[in-house]
Amino acid sequence: MVDKGRLVQDFCDLVRIDSPSGEEEAVAQHVSRRLQVLGLEVARDAHGNVIASEPGDDPLLLSAHMDTVEPGRGIQPRVQGDRIRSDGTTILGGDCKGGISAILEGLQSVAEAGLARRPVQVVFTRGEEIGLVGANNLDFSMLRAAEAVVFDGNGPVNHITGASPTYIRLDVTVKGRAAHAGVEPEKGLSAIRIASEIITQLPQGRLDAESTFNVGVVSGGSVRNAVPADAAFQAEFRSRSTETLDSLRMQVLEILDKARQRYRDASIREEFEVMFQMYTLDPKEHMVQAVCQSMKDLGLTPNIRPSGGGTDGNVLRLHGIQCVVVGMATNEMHTVNEYVVIPDLVNAARFCRQLLTGSY
Ligand SMILES: [Zn+2]
Repeated sequence: MVDKGRLVQDFCDLVRIDSPSGEEEAVAQHVSRRLQVLGLEVARDAHGNVIASEPGDDPLLLSAHMDTVEPGRGIQPRVQGDRIRSDGTTILGGDCKGGISAILEGLQSVAEAGLARRPVQVVFTRGEEIGLVGANNLDFSMLRAAEAVVFDGNGPVNHITGASPTYIRLDVTVKGRAAHAGVEPEKGLSAIRIASEIITQLPQGRLDAESTFNVGVVSGGSVRNAVPADAAFQAEFRSRSTETLDSLRMQVLEILDKARQRYRDASIREEFEVMFQMYTLDPKEHMVQAVCQSMKDLGLTPNIRPSGGGTDGNVLRLHGIQCVVVGMATNEMHTVNEYVVIPDLVNAARFCRQLLTGSY
């Protein structure tokens, strides 16, 4: 049996351990001890990701990430009815500690019942929230699993991420020419003005059902009374359509070229980088079928739907691992209103147990 009281307690213990991205060591130690007690052999890769293994053929990879976003220090979980919240000054950290605790409780309940189960590998990554950094640095030579479930979707466990976009980072830097703003502004060339002209021409917001574009950071200048020589901005765009991604990239390049023609003395540089790659689940894939069937066997209805975000699942898929991302019982992630629904958390653990013990 999945033990609800223990699960809630474990979850609360986990979120009380601070683990903002880059500072995951305490939580890594905590989960490593838990995995060792469960009889798994725990290792760390060079990046510090936790990788637990056991003997056996065709292991199933269970994964979640250890880091949380800010404000995420000194979290005080509060159980109110069937929900767990923070005290309102921090996030809760259910993203992704709902996933971690569901995996640990699933394994624990199977062990207590003495049930036969599929062998597992458990991977708890670092730095997911800052661009899937842990997964991108994961030592895949330590993995034997060809199939995986990542507990990192929002909402109940039966919310399955059916498609995830490609995410491209765009950084633009503009170099103009400094001059005294009051004495000889004619000699200057304002990098801020050029950057803002470019920004106003870029597409922004939701572009269509599967594409978005955002300029998130702008910087430039150093003092009020100088024509600024430097400016820069950071943008990102995402789409589940390769054609749209290509055309957005072309659009950006055209806008930059026009700015170069208009301001021949300026230097305008851009950098694109694909941070993660899109995927769309194939309903015929074995892992998708196994996940859906085990949910149905628990009386849950699989709800496969696209997401605008990326998870470690994008990276696992890129490495050829059949990976399904499921919900981790958390809602309003990345806000101080974040909350976990306890029955959903129990279902996430039950799902983990079912998937490991059923014959799928
Ligand atoms: Zn997450």
